[in-house]
Amino acid sequence: MKKAVFIDRDGTLIKDVPYNAKPALIEFMPNAIKSLAALKKNKFLLILISNQSGIARGFFTVEQLNSMHEVIQQTLSDFNVMLDEIYYCPHHPEGKIEEFTIECECRKPKPGLILEAAKKNNIDLNNSWMVGDILNDVEAGNAAGCKTILLNNGNETEWIINEKRTPAFTVENWIMIAQTIVSN
Ligand SMILES: [Mg+2]
Ligand SMILES: [Zn+2]
Repeated sequence: MKKAVFIDRDGTLIKDVPYNAKPALIEFMPNAIKSLAALKKNKFLLILISNQSGIARGFFTVEQLNSMHEVIQQTLSDFNVMLDEIYYCPHHPEGKIEEFTIECECRKPKPGLILEAAKKNNIDLNNSWMVGDILNDVEAGNAAGCKTILLNNGNETEWIINEKRTPAFTVENWIMIAQTIVSN
């Protein structure tokens, strides 16, 4: 079986610009790209796990989201590292676009996207990691049976914490994310 690092997008891989659909505003977090390259060298699949309720809310389309992801992949490929898979949840229970306005099983903190990715890619969840900047990411990773890292960069503001939402590790930057994963 394979091992993976599941990665939140907004506020973790790239700077959080709420509901952004403009590729020009994509900015990778400091040292994220070289850390991804280090993780790839250590045989981890790199899989994006992202809530994109802007689709359900009518702020942008699936096509616009795909364009964002193409730019992310293009930028990464310049550094010889790419995401192996991109999973996103387009839903929200209080959306505007009917087909995406549902109470789904894939919006984090639910683990649906991680479980789907694991099944498709034959991933050993117990030897895999979820990395995110808020505790909903941690809860999703814990629920899927992954090890979890909170990138504590100020984006979590509510701190609703309980056993299910407790990260295995809390770090401040991408260098520490890569070190933590490689050494645990
Ligand atoms: Mg985030
Ligand atoms: Zn969903």
